Amino acid sequence: MNICGICSCASLKQHNKLKNYYKCDNCNTWNKLPRHEQNDLISGGYKYPDANDTFNSFSKFKPLILKFEKLVPVKTIYDVATGIGGLPYLAKLRKWDVYGGNELRIENVHCARMLYGINLDLDYFEDVKMEMKFGVVVCHHGLEHMNNPITVLDKMIDRTVKGGIIYLEHPCIPNDDYLERYADGSESLGAHSYEWTFESFKYFITCVRNMKQTKIIESKCGWETVNNLHAYIPPVQYWLLRKE
Ligand SMILES: [Zn+2]
Repeated sequence: MNICGICSCASLKQHNKLKNYYKCDNCNTWNKLPRHEQNDLISGGYKYPDANDTFNSFSKFKPLILKFEKLVPVKTIYDVATGIGGLPYLAKLRKWDVYGGNELRIENVHCARMLYGINLDLDYFEDVKMEMKFGVVVCHHGLEHMNNPITVLDKMIDRTVKGGIIYLEHPCIPNDDYLERYADGSESLGAHSYEWTFESFKYFITCVRNMKQTKIIESKCGWETVNNLHAYIPPVQYWLLRKE
């Protein structure tokens, strides 16, 4: 039986055209079923950087790092979905201690670890044994691919110092028509387990807030185009949480 991976509700409605997509009656998340393996992620799309990259090379992440610096005194960051490592690398250039993980693609590991010197865990975030807590824990375009997003966010909060920041950013489906356009893969950067709407993500955050004390200090849903990607990505939403 199909159940929603976010709220465990068993009442799912299949999309009228897209046979792999099921909308949860309870939380409104689009579940893509059956779920893909986490290592199905595609690797294309990103600019592969070189060791001469500077703080300005990843302009997308620059305002984010500067924002974190204003919000937390502890300059340690863990990036749950490191990818090639652009975000932690930028933090490193600003003298942060940088960590990351959940990256199974060899070329990305090479880039993040060998080129950028990021301390990298090679396992799913849920399974990584960690003692350390961090000033900022980030999941930047990762949750939509994960099989257990509630477990992941719960652990992210757990690994954040008191007063620290949890930052989540991911694509957001503004309406069901958009899903039809997006789901054929032509505008997507790889396999997603979920397609979030703003409302379904709000439900998700509320579930987790019932488990651990966090305060939403900023959230936004809006269109965004990213210059250095081949693809045009859908609207992005982000959530900035403070651990209390
Ligand atoms: Zn649900």
